[in-house]
Amino acid sequence: MNLSNARLPADAPWVVIKFGGTSVSTRPRWDTIARIAADHRANGKRVLIVVSALSGVTDLLKGIGEAFADGPRCAELRETIVARHHALFGEMDLPKRNAIDAWIAKLDQLLADPRRAAGTLDWQAEVLALGELSSSTLGALYLNACGLTTHWLDSREYLRAEALPNQGAWGQWLSASVRVRHEPAIALALASRGEVFIAQGFIARSGETATAVLGRGGSDTSAAYYGALLKAEAVEIWTDVPGMFSANPRQVADARLLARLDYAEAQEIATTGAKVLHPRCIHPVRDERVPIRIKDTNRPELPGTEIVWDAQLTAPSVKAISSRKGITLVSMESISMWQQVGFLADVFEVFKRHGLSVDLIGSAETNVTASLDPSDNLLNSDVLARLCTDLEAFCRVKVIAPCAAITLVGRGMRAMLHRLSAVLAEFGALNVHLISQSSNNLNLTFVIDEDVVDALIPRLHALLIRAEVMRVGDAAVFGPSWRELAGGDASVRRSTWWRTQRERLLELATQSTPRYVYSLDQVREKARCLSALGMVDRWHYALKANPHPDILRTLHAEGFAFECVSWNEVEAVRATLPDLPVERILFTPNFAPREEYRAALATGVRVTLDALHPITEWGADFAGAEIFLRVDLGVGRGHHDKVRTGGAQSKFGVSFD
Ligand code: ADP
Ligand code: ASP
Ligand code: MG
Repeated sequence: MNLSNARLPADAPWVVIKFGGTSVSTRPRWDTIARIAADHRANGKRVLIVVSALSGVTDLLKGIGEAFADGPRCAELRETIVARHHALFGEMDLPKRNAIDAWIAKLDQLLADPRRAAGTLDWQAEVLALGELSSSTLGALYLNACGLTTHWLDSREYLRAEALPNQGAWGQWLSASVRVRHEPAIALALASRGEVFIAQGFIARSGETATAVLGRGGSDTSAAYYGALLKAEAVEIWTDVPGMFSANPRQVADARLLARLDYAEAQEIATTGAKVLHPRCIHPVRDERVPIRIKDTNRPELPGTEIVWDAQLTAPSVKAISSRKGITLVSMESISMWQQVGFLADVFEVFKRHGLSVDLIGSAETNVTASLDPSDNLLNSDVLARLCTDLEAFCRVKVIAPCAAITLVGRGMRAMLHRLSAVLAEFGALNVHLISQSSNNLNLTFVIDEDVVDALIPRLHALLIRAEVMRVGDAAVFGPSWRELAGGDASVRRSTWWRTQRERLLELATQSTPRYVYSLDQVREKARCLSALGMVDRWHYALKANPHPDILRTLHAEGFAFECVSWNEVEAVRATLPDLPVERILFTPNFAPREEYRAALATGVRVTLDALHPITEWGADFAGAEIFLRVDLGVGRGHHDKVRTGGAQSKFGVSFD
C-alpha cells in the first residue's frame, strides 16, 4: 500500500469511492479498499469512501422491521446480524470491539423502543441505518490499523432528506431523496481535518434528529450526493461486476461491457432495471458534471464503465436490454371515456391519494392501463385493494400481475424500429400487455407475463446486441463480453482465435476477398463441448451450415452424425465419408420431390416427414418403412413469417390434430 506522508493542499481534488455489500464483507476486500484509497491519496486526491452494509445485512434488518411483532423472529435475526459483524471483526484481527458493540447496543435499544409495537416507518428507517453505520465503523477501525489514517463521518450530518410535494410516508422514511449542490465550505472544512474519510451510504438526516434511508441499493446515490457536494473529480462505484453491461451479466453471459455512456443512457439503463446503479444516483452528478466510473473490486485493473456528460458516440444503437419483475398492471375500462373531459385526471388522482407512483401508461378510446413498479411504491395487497375500490367509482378495473417489463435502451430508439423485426417476432409468440415508447426517445418497453422473462432475455440479447455489435463495430461502445472477462486471458484467446492467427488471415485476405475462414481446431473444440453434455445421446451436424469436406471429416471423427435437407447434401456426405453407416444420415427435407424420398428409403438413410402430403399421395412408397415425423407443437420462431418453425401458418411439421 502506498502510504505517502506528503500533506495535500486544501484544494486538492476529491474522489468519492463507493463499495457495495460484497465489496466490504471480507478482510481481503478491505485490503483492496485500503489499496485503492491509498493509491488515490498518493496521486494527490482527497478520498471519501462510502460503504454499504455487509452483504445480506440490510435484508436481515429489513426482516426485523417487517417482523416487528414477532419477538422470537426478531431475536433470531438480531443474533445473525451480531454474528456477521463479530465474525468480520475477528477476521480483521482488531484489538477493541467497543465501537462495533455500541451499534449492537443501539439495535437492542431500538428493539426495546415503544415505536416497535406498531413498526412505525421512522423506527424501521433507524433499524435499517444500522447496517451502514456498523460496516463503516468496522472499516474505519481496519483502515487505521493498516496505517491509512481515516476519519469516520456520520452521513446524517451532510445529507438531509428533503420533503417532496407528493411524497407519502413510505417514501419520506424509506425512499428519501436529498437535494445537494456543490458546497465549497464543506470541502474546505473536511480538508482541514484530514485526507481520507469514510461515511455510510444509504442514510440521511430527516428533520432535525431523525434518520431516513434512501431506498434499496441507495448507497450508490449517497456516493453521488457526496460527489456533487464536494464537486469531486470522479465518483467511483466499486462493485462485483466490472461495469455496466448490455444486459445483466449474471443472466446473459454474452452481455457486453459498455465502455462509455452518457448520463441519459446510464440513467435509462439504471431506471429500467440494471441494479448495478441506483436509479437516483445519476441526477446529482449530472447537475455538477461529475463523471461516474463503475469498477470491479475484485479486478481493479479492468477499465470498467465511464459515465460522462457527452459520450460522443457514433450512430444511434441499441445499447442494453434490462428487465424489472414484480410489475403490476392496472387496466381501467370506461365506456364513457371517449372524449370525456377529466377522466385521466380523476383516475390518476386516486393513484396519488394512495401514494402510488405510476410508471408506464398505455391508452385507448375506452381503456387506460398503467403500471406500478414495486421499487417506487409500497405495493402490498391492502394498498392495491383500496386503490381498486376507489377506482371503481370511475371505471371497471382489472389487475394483471405478476408482470415483467423488458426494456430496450438506446439513443434515438424511434430511428431504429426497422432493426427490431427479429425482436418483435419473439414478442409475437407472447402475451404482450403493454408497449410503451419513452418520450425522450431512449427506450422501448414491453410488459409481459413475469414467468417468461428469464428465458426471453438471453434470446433477445442474442438477436439484438450481437447484431448491434457487428453493425456499430466500435470498441468505444461495446467492450468484451462477461464470458470473456470471467474466463480471463486464456478464454479470450480461445474465443477470439483469429487474434492469434492475424498474419495468416491477412495473408489469405490478399489472395481474394471476401473469404470465409474456418478453424478446424475451433470446430473440434465446440464439438467436444457439445459432446460433453451427457444427456444428449446423438448429435447431428446440419450440412447447410457448411458442407466443406474437412469440416465433415473433423466432425465425423468427433462422433457426429449428419443432417441433410436435400438429396444433394446426402450425396455430398456420402462422397466425403464413404465409410459412414447410412443410418447416421438424417434426411429432413421440406417439400422434397418424390424421387428424393424414394432414393432415401432405398439407401436406408433415416427419413423425416414434416407434412402429410407424401403419405397421402405416395403412401405405397412408405409401406413398411421406419420414418420420423416432425410434429408442429403450435409455437415456433423465425426471423420472418415464411420461416416460422411452428404454428398454424408454418410450413414445417405435422399438426397434432
Ligand atoms: P453492490 O452491492 O456493489 O451495490 P449490486 O448487487 O447492487 O452491487 O449491483 C451489482 C449487480 O448488478 C451485479 O452483480 C449484477 O448482477 C447486477 N446487474 C443487473 N443488470 C446489470 C447490468 N446491465 N450491468 C451490470 N450489472 C448488472
Ligand atoms: N445496504 C443497502 C441495501 O442493501 C444500500 C446499498 O447497499 O446500496 O439496499
Ligand atoms: Mg447496489
